Amino acid sequence: GAAAARTVVRALHRAQEVLHAAEDELGRLDAVAGDGDHGRGMARGVDAAVGAADEALAAGADAPSVLRRAADRWADRAGGTSGALWGVGLLALADGLAADVALTGTHVADGVRAARDEVCAVGGARVGDKTLVDALDPAVEALAAAHADGATAADAWRAAVRAAREGAARTQDITARRGRSRVLGDKSLGVADPGATSLALLLAEVGAALGV
Ligand code: ADP
Ligand code: MG
Ligand code: MG
Repeated sequence: GAAAARTVVRALHRAQEVLHAAEDELGRLDAVAGDGDHGRGMARGVDAAVGAADEALAAGADAPSVLRRAADRWADRAGGTSGALWGVGLLALADGLAADVALTGTHVADGVRAARDEVCAVGGARVGDKTLVDALDPAVEALAAAHADGATAADAWRAAVRAAREGAARTQDITARRGRSRVLGDKSLGVADPGATSLALLLAEVGAALGV
């Protein structure tokens, strides 16, 4: 219902804060082996998404509709590979959320899995390619494992955030095989992938907005 829609909007506002705070750092990471625009692109994408989400909420939209509008606007305005993939992922997440139910831990876990599947299908990246999939996939698996173990939503989310951070950190040790930086070979060694870094940051914020 309306509470779930407000939660989605709150999560996007938190994402906006953290992305603006991290904008310069994400740009520096992307400048090493990319084109330096990751921080700017994510900030532009989330600003557009927040605007769309605020409008949709004011118009009485439910949680999946709010997220769908936000995803469309993000993809539209962010530019870059990550912008397109965030649009795809958020749309898959929206499709996984039922209109009239609360955002429970298992719903969100299923939605995040759908997002991972769609991002991999569209972008073609696998774990180890030094992309945001290196943070997203471990988070999805950690969430599923925690829920299977009967963990609380809060504990499951904490495990997912930890897995995403560790996955993002591991990208320092690999050479990019996808995206712009793949042509630069070992130049990206020793530096974390910007897309994996921003994804791990955002998972932590979403958890806070969900109250976990
Ligand atoms: P661009 O590379 O177009 O400038 P960004 O700088 O915003 O876009 O995003 C770069 C990030 O996008 C990379 O750090 C990586 O995490 C992610 N990325 C690039 N290509 C792919 C892909 N095929 N699948 C998943 N993620 C990708
Ligand atoms: Mg870039
Ligand atoms: Mg670019």
